[in-house]
Amino acid sequence: MLQSQLPNFIRKESPRDEEAVSARLLIRGGFVDKLASGVYTYLPLGIRVLKNIESIVRKEMDALGAHELLMPVMHPKENWEKTGRWKTLDVLFKIAGRDKKEYALGPTHEEVISPLAQKAIFSYKDLPLGLYQIQTKFRDEPRAKSGLLRGREFLMKDLYSFHASTKDLDAYYEQAIKAYKKVFKKLGVDTVLVEASGGTFSKFSHEFQVFLESGEDQIVYCKKCGLAQNREINDTREGGPCPVCGAIVSIRQGAEVGNIFRLGTKYSEPFSLTYKDAKGNTHPVIMGCYGMGISRLMGTIVEALHDDRGIVWPAEVAPFDAHLIELPGTNGKAKKLYKELIEAGIDVLYDERSVSAGEKFAESDLIGIPVRLVVSSKTGKKIEFKKRNEETTKLVDETFIRKYFKK
Ligand code: ATP
Ligand code: MG
Repeated sequence: MLQSQLPNFIRKESPRDEEAVSARLLIRGGFVDKLASGVYTYLPLGIRVLKNIESIVRKEMDALGAHELLMPVMHPKENWEKTGRWKTLDVLFKIAGRDKKEYALGPTHEEVISPLAQKAIFSYKDLPLGLYQIQTKFRDEPRAKSGLLRGREFLMKDLYSFHASTKDLDAYYEQAIKAYKKVFKKLGVDTVLVEASGGTFSKFSHEFQVFLESGEDQIVYCKKCGLAQNREINDTREGGPCPVCGAIVSIRQGAEVGNIFRLGTKYSEPFSLTYKDAKGNTHPVIMGCYGMGISRLMGTIVEALHDDRGIVWPAEVAPFDAHLIELPGTNGKAKKLYKELIEAGIDVLYDERSVSAGEKFAESDLIGIPVRLVVSSKTGKKIEFKKRNEETTKLVDETFIRKYFKK
């Protein structure tokens, strides 16, 4: 893409009303724009990153054998009254329609998927079943001041699984953990699997936490035996003994990017979601649910991967593969290179604008595309190649660039 064609949402100044470094960088870099507290627009650069994250997640959910669907945002009040959560879920956004009928704006979808699943589940032969969506969720969060890390409107992947036995749920749960680990590895984020409250069927739910100074959660972590527990369920102190092995534990800040639960029959019972076994006897379906914060991941990646000049995107989620910067006096060489790289299937942002070299370099560092290519009067027949996460530059030819991206 020609940079002159890209609407320029890059800002010179850091926003003053954002506390999280990820929010400041994403706004300055023209990835997102804040409409209200916890409510953001994904701008042309930002949507590219979000779509890349989504497609990595989608691929692993499909590999797990789950089927994608898209459920409504508006949920009739009755569904939420059936589970009692109309009254108990404090973050539930409620709206009234013209007919005075009330609705919830979906913060999660157990109240929709459970009655829905009954339309496809009749016997044990229909199980197991995995259904997922990537969708905008709404939560009236009291502390929505960390950019994409805590939105009131945010993007989540939520998968629900349906089983005839707890044994089958357990096996699926393990597979889901593996799929999550693959996603995070591809995204370039290091996660730790943490035991947390919220297990309705089992003692714990499991969270995927990224250790970050700016994370909102506190994790009790034992290097020796690997114990990792959310502090909300645990009164262990920093430097205190590990409740499992007795070694000294540390308390680390974490950002929760995923949370998986064995739900058991908590939602199938109120909605009479049942199946018939081989003898024709009826049983409640056993469920699991698996959430992942797609937009929170975008913010978390930036929290983890940035320097004082800007964002350092991992290649898999970056908005472009390479940033080609043209400086004056190159006689059409940059334009020719751009065309050839595009033809080779490399996604290039080509800065052909008449702005100063300093401005081009500063913006390039800010938006954080993994590879920078510079063509100037000084580079002769060669091209200056630099990775965003390294300081060294080298002069290369076009063959090198093609080979680099083939990997
Ligand atoms: P938290 O404890 O951070 O409030 P939660 O435990 O309420 O999150 P879940 O219901 O487990 O969240 O949702 C699944 C995933 O969705 C979370 O692991 C997180 O990554 C993401 N998520 C939850 N709330 C938000 C939010 N307000 N903004 C962005 N992402 C969120
Ligand atoms: Mg959670």
